[in-house]
Amino acid sequence: MLVCILIEWVRFLLLACAEGHANLGEMDMIVRRQTRKITIGDVAVGGGNPITVQSMTNTDTRDVAATVAQIHSLEQAGCELIRVAVLDLEAAAAIAKIRAAISIPLIADIHFDHRLAVAAMEHGAQSIRINPGNLGGAAKLARVVDAAKAHGVPIRVGVNSGSIEKDLLKIHGYPSPENPAALIESALRNVRLLEELGFYEMKISIKSSDTLTTVSGYQALARKTEYPLHLGVTEAGGLIAGTVKSSVALGILLHQGIGDTFRISLTRDPVEEVRVGFELLRSLKIRERGPELISCPTCGRTQIDLFTLAEAVERYVQTMKAPIKVAVMGCVVNGPGEAKEADIGVAGGNGVGIIFKKGQIYKKVKEEELLAVFLQELKQIEEEMGELSPK
Ligand code: SF4
Repeated sequence: MLVCILIEWVRFLLLACAEGHANLGEMDMIVRRQTRKITIGDVAVGGGNPITVQSMTNTDTRDVAATVAQIHSLEQAGCELIRVAVLDLEAAAAIAKIRAAISIPLIADIHFDHRLAVAAMEHGAQSIRINPGNLGGAAKLARVVDAAKAHGVPIRVGVNSGSIEKDLLKIHGYPSPENPAALIESALRNVRLLEELGFYEMKISIKSSDTLTTVSGYQALARKTEYPLHLGVTEAGGLIAGTVKSSVALGILLHQGIGDTFRISLTRDPVEEVRVGFELLRSLKIRERGPELISCPTCGRTQIDLFTLAEAVERYVQTMKAPIKVAVMGCVVNGPGEAKEADIGVAGGNGVGIIFKKGQIYKKVKEEELLAVFLQELKQIEEEMGELSPK
């Protein structure tokens, strides 16, 4: 619920911003930037394919059971690509067992040690995220590239503003919204290292914890490369700060057609990252997954415990696949009218709830029975619509 409100608020800001700087006709249409296509497992990234939502586990990768359990929760939430940290050879070996137990493509995240990158691919990693410049030199990078070619594994060149090469910082200064050049040059330098080895199956990320540097950096990078771009704001923060920062930066970029896949980084259960990701795509009308929940903020007219009801409904709709619109409103005075686009909704009265469909009152129920009856109605809609796959 909080996430939906936050993202709607961000969308409002973006629209307001567009009104100030462009006309709304331009704002309405997203033209995707043309990029090359890479394939991670069975998921295509770039080349006009749907923008994918990904996440990263926060379990110890060596703990196969815990990692698989978390990935299953992420799959349930709609996660399409999952990354795991590979800190040692035991974690690299665990990839084989993890991959056998999950159904989305697995990406290994590796720093500094080229042997871990090679081992991860030998154990079935379907992509690796590296910073080619920090693997210990040309010969070691060549071994990684040879393994990537042999296993058909694409590479994400991942550069962070905190780990840019000193010479680039000296020339360009630390990345800022006005001057993100060091980030871009670092990424392109690393890309060239792979290209010189005849490797082109890659996507690029340039992560900053600063919202506006993220925006200007990706905008500049998009003008200089045709490789697909993985978007993200690094160390974005907790649920509220992280959602706002990521939604502002990624919202602007996605609306400009920049970005082929992304992760919302939150100091939180990664399942929340995926939920925020899909809400962001929905709010930009790029992709939809499952039901859309709208709810009023409540006011002095509210006469039932709407927060408890809304939270319970939100938990339930997160398990649904049917792309319907569900409304939870505080009162019958304005509720059904405000939510007339909703397929089904509930509005509070004095000790009662009114269930409405398409803006028309359908049934009046005592408050004590309201949640159970409403959930039953949702189940019935699901059954009537069948198992609808996400778009
Ligand atoms: S729907 Fe009713 S309770 Fe909710 S904010 Fe609007 S007027 Fe207030």
